[in-house]
Amino acid sequence: MSDAGSKASLLGVHWASRVNPILIRRLYQTDARGIVDEELIDAVGFALYARCESILQATEAHAGHIICPECGTLVKRDGGPWLKDAILECAQCGWQVPWEEYFKTYQHKHLVGGSPSHSTLSTSTASSMPARRKRKCWQSIGSSTRTIGS
Ligand SMILES: [Zn+2]
Repeated sequence: MSDAGSKASLLGVHWASRVNPILIRRLYQTDARGIVDEELIDAVGFALYARCESILQATEAHAGHIICPECGTLVKRDGGPWLKDAILECAQCGWQVPWEEYFKTYQHKHLVGGSPSHSTLSTSTASSMPARRKRKCWQSIGSSTRTIGS
């Protein structure tokens, strides 16, 4: 393949940043005054949703299930998250990147929900994972909202 370089891209990998707590505070304040600010509701709602999606996606990636940024196909990584030499390869479109480089796109962004036990959870209790993961997701984005809301 002569165009191997064009498929080895991380340009399609995007992670949502944390939701601005000032916006969340403003939402609570306007709501308390009975003001319905639809623009603000949309802004906070979409930001929370995007952040939640990123947390779920990064957590899945960490556990070995990566979404191909080119075509959306599930790419499975062999080995644990600390196996630096692993290569991610999409069977559908040929996208290919070293796992270590993909890992660096979400490293230090507080996107992986859970504890060191997470990798064992993902294989042994797969059926009970969604609710558990969602709760973790809300815990990691909602620490500021809980205090504001009380
Ligand atoms: Zn693909």
